[in-house]
Amino acid sequence: MALANSDQEHDVETEIAIAGGGLVGAALALGLAQSGISSAVIEAEPLIDDAAAATDGRASALGYPSWRMLLALGLGPELEPHAQPIDQILITDASQSKITRKFQSSPLSLHFDSREKPIGGPLGMMVENRHLRCALARALTANPKIRVLAPARIARLEALPAKARARLEDGRDLNAALVIGAEGRRSAVRAAMDVRLIQVDYEQTALVATLAHDRAHDGVAHQMFLPGGPVALLPLQGHRTCLVWSEKTAFAKSVLAQSPDVALREIRARIGAVLGEISLEGQLWSFPLSMALAETWVKSRLALAGDAAHAIHPIAGQGLNLGLRDAAALAETLRDARRSGADLGAETTLLRYQRWRRFDTATTAFACDAFNRLFSNAIAPVRLARRLGLAGVDAIGPLRRLAMQIAAGGAGDLPLLLRGEALAP
Ligand SMILES: Cc1cc2nc3c(=O)[nH]c(=O)nc-3n(C[C@H](O)[C@H](O)[C@H](O)COP(=O)(O)OP(=O)(O)OC[C@H]3O[C@@H](n4cnc5c(N)ncnc54)[C@H](O)[C@@H]3O)c2cc1C
Repeated sequence: MALANSDQEHDVETEIAIAGGGLVGAALALGLAQSGISSAVIEAEPLIDDAAAATDGRASALGYPSWRMLLALGLGPELEPHAQPIDQILITDASQSKITRKFQSSPLSLHFDSREKPIGGPLGMMVENRHLRCALARALTANPKIRVLAPARIARLEALPAKARARLEDGRDLNAALVIGAEGRRSAVRAAMDVRLIQVDYEQTALVATLAHDRAHDGVAHQMFLPGGPVALLPLQGHRTCLVWSEKTAFAKSVLAQSPDVALREIRARIGAVLGEISLEGQLWSFPLSMALAETWVKSRLALAGDAAHAIHPIAGQGLNLGLRDAAALAETLRDARRSGADLGAETTLLRYQRWRRFDTATTAFACDAFNRLFSNAIAPVRLARRLGLAGVDAIGPLRRLAMQIAAGGAGDLPLLLRGEALAP
């Protein structure tokens, strides 16, 4: 394809181009840099390194392996002051108003406790996305192996036999052995790859807020299954909690249209007194929920990672964890290819990454989909069956410990970064 108006002086030559400098794209660039591979990150928004400004209201429940990866990427000093360990997880098929703080009242629930040591650390860490974004932005701009192009977008993309060539919206051309799409749910690289998508619209919206409260959360994460959708209370540092409240979209819209006092009343009705007196810290945010799985993740010179490959329901807090696994597996695959002298953008190289990641992702996505359908449902026999299921897993020690390990992301063939080992060239 002929390309016009090239700004030759500022054209970009790089080994790898990563479209999207979100949490996954940024972590991938850092993993590649550790492996001695240079990259250019093309991010649509300006990079923000001020945590006060860079908020989308969300916080991420990171499984312990994901947390180890962030430490192995050198982000510990930036993130540790803001991270809250998750020591226990309580999963209940009921409103929290029926549960006491000490978890004594419901025998039909599932309780994970890090003292059972499924993976040798806390069950996970909670970090607000604004802190993750800032830490990653600072690390990207400080790394000599990474070039950040922001704000910038790819306007046209071509996979040629020996390289990928992108035309940026500002007229520059970019040449790379490989272009990776990490631009989230509406990936332009995925669109250019023309791959089939498996899509589900949940007709649910997640309402997200930070709650301030007077009782200590004691490092306990709560997942409550209510007929409108799941409600999660995720502990943050101090007397603060991240609420992720999924509801039918029409109801969520009506909550958003009313005053914060109405929202607080609805929240109290769902979570009871488990956190004591609550107030909203900042605004209520909303995220429409859908699933979109790419059937193919790689083609010659092109690959997908993170939500660009698999956007899933946040019911189990797994989306970013999966995306970080992609970043770790892809960086390691490319590092190994470089060591053996292979072409980084060849389809044979990239298929190893796809084989490593696609099965884990599909099973997690469909499990989240099934959980959401099973639990966002008030039919009496279904309620009884799922409550007995939770209680059954809770009663059987080895099964409970296995479920805990899977929930914490410690199962399967973990890439080196997720085992806490930095990548070397
Ligand atoms: C309510 C909610 C709660 C969640 N909680 C958790 C949790 O607790 N734990 C967990 O593991 N996951 C959680 N997730 C999922 C998690 O947030 C996502 O999986 C994760 O953000 C995906 O990261 P990403 O970098 O792939 O995509 P994104 O975070 O979407 O980042 C994409 C980046 O690409 C940029 N971009 C977009 N278009 C372009 C373009 N054309 N060109 C260049 N750049 C572009 C964007 O500006 C952005 O910076 C949650 C999701 C939701 C909705």
